Amino acid sequence: MTTTTLTSEAAGLPDVAALSRLAGALFATLPDGSASPAFPGAGAPDSIDLRETVSPQPQAAPAGETGAVRAPRAGGIASGVPEAYAAALPSALPTSSHPKEPQAGGRPASYYFVDEASHPVSKRHEDVAVPEDRVSAQSFGLPGQDTLKALLSNLTSSRPGTTELSGSRDEAGGYYFVHPSQVQAHESRRGAPQTQARSAPGGFDVQAVRKDFPILQERINGKPLVWLDNAATTHKPRQVIERLSHFYEHENSNIHRAAHELAARATDAYEGARSTVARFLGAASADEIIFVRGATEGINLVAKSWGVKHIGAGDEIIVSHLEHHANIVPWQQLAAEKGARLRVIPVDDSGQILLDEYRKLLNPRTRLVAVTQVSNALGTITPVQEIVALAKAVGARTLVDGAQSVSHLRVNVQALGADFFVFSGHKVFAPTGIGVVYGRSEVLEETPPWQGGGNMIADVTFERTLFQPPPARFEAGTGNIADAAGLGAALDYLQALGLENVAKYEHDLLDYATHGLSRIPGLRLVGTALHKTSVLSFVLPGHTTEDIGHALNEEGIAVRSGHHCAQPILRRFGLEATVRPSLAFYNTCDEIDHLVAVVRRIARR
Ligand code: PLP
Repeated sequence: MTTTTLTSEAAGLPDVAALSRLAGALFATLPDGSASPAFPGAGAPDSIDLRETVSPQPQAAPAGETGAVRAPRAGGIASGVPEAYAAALPSALPTSSHPKEPQAGGRPASYYFVDEASHPVSKRHEDVAVPEDRVSAQSFGLPGQDTLKALLSNLTSSRPGTTELSGSRDEAGGYYFVHPSQVQAHESRRGAPQTQARSAPGGFDVQAVRKDFPILQERINGKPLVWLDNAATTHKPRQVIERLSHFYEHENSNIHRAAHELAARATDAYEGARSTVARFLGAASADEIIFVRGATEGINLVAKSWGVKHIGAGDEIIVSHLEHHANIVPWQQLAAEKGARLRVIPVDDSGQILLDEYRKLLNPRTRLVAVTQVSNALGTITPVQEIVALAKAVGARTLVDGAQSVSHLRVNVQALGADFFVFSGHKVFAPTGIGVVYGRSEVLEETPPWQGGGNMIADVTFERTLFQPPPARFEAGTGNIADAAGLGAALDYLQALGLENVAKYEHDLLDYATHGLSRIPGLRLVGTALHKTSVLSFVLPGHTTEDIGHALNEEGIAVRSGHHCAQPILRRFGLEATVRPSLAFYNTCDEIDHLVAVVRRIARR
């Protein structure tokens, strides 16, 4: 037990100097180590033993310690948090798990404090005592590096989209300041690039958000990692990583079938995640949410259960030219098995679905329309709402592939009206091996199970089996319990950031990147639809996509090059492969600058 010998006349109240040092230490624990010049202790908390500085509630000294004031309990609060301050933290903060270790040199790790009023802690999280040092939306409003940069650049420069003329920023790119005539062509097609992505004051503080993603600190070939392969998979915030650890440290058990405490915790974690997904998608009930491995397994589930029962000879299944192989092959297999016909909605030269052509394909034989909401190869945002409505009008069922949409756009499955909606956790900042099929309850009722085994049965004899109602009917065997909890944490994280904020930031970033890449001589952008998100596919004549991918990797930049499991749409554009940088909300304009500069260098070779 640490004791101190404070002798303040105010019976244990600290003096002004002590308070000042405490405040300084507190500022230093904030993200960015933000220090207040008003407090001399700021920036050097490691030099202060806070337990010796203040005790907010002096306790009676045991006999023999006359004059001593006992400090608050030493254990229980994460190390690195001043105890006096920790005494005032929300009760949801962990009291025993996930201690924050002091960083090298004894400096305490910085802490985010959750304002419960604006970011209420869900009941589920209280139940499982998930650490609430999660960032939620706390990054907003804190002065990030980008905010300061934006403020400074406001003072010193004009911006794209303004009418002023200024010079290029650097030899390689010069994308910041261009003559209005140079941006005219781009503006007329997509609108002027916005600079808010660089984080306008009060806007999206990308630097604060990046601190949640430990892997973004990696260096590749001696260079900082620039992760522009988000359409393939996304990185995981600390909150998700810690959620997984928490599960295995405190909750691990199989679910549903035991009376013991850990089974109850694991079941709560799994079913809580199901409720989180239902809220995230705007589903009417958690019973409409089926956990699977990912979008591919989800589409296969629908094809091999609902499809096998409801598609017959002569029936038609419609997909679009934009589809990922995962939304082509299962339907092709089903059509071959049943004697049904696969029909394809064409796209225009920008990569957008031709709605009039789609209308012509619809007829009373159409049983299912399965389309992507966002193309993984081109980034096109398709008009899914209209597509679904038109399908309904001819009595067809609909499946929307949300693998590329849920991390960028707010989705509401009820507003969309789709019968099925699938997505993969790993593309939305959650672990691999977990994904979701949303099925409208009425449609799930008409869907038979696709795999048999444990968990999905109500009763088994050798003569017959009675099945559980949805969603258990579709979850045979032990599910991916921990990763489901991780998915819940990822969706909570995204919700706290706010999908509207994310969408706006990414829209600006996409415009910025489109503008930068499109000015590189010879570079051809593939996929130029007006409604796009987060994908920039391109080719550079004279350079193979593989070579460009390798050259970018040399500079620490990760992009995908190849066919992106979407060969039909690339062939529609006369290509077998493209280079595909793809964005997430943790990417920055500086990273885009780097990408553009390196591609420009390659183009000069
Ligand atoms: N659909 C789309 C549009 C995709 O982009 C992907 C993956 O890239 C998938 C489906 C398949 O996702 P998964 O491999 O996670 O099952």
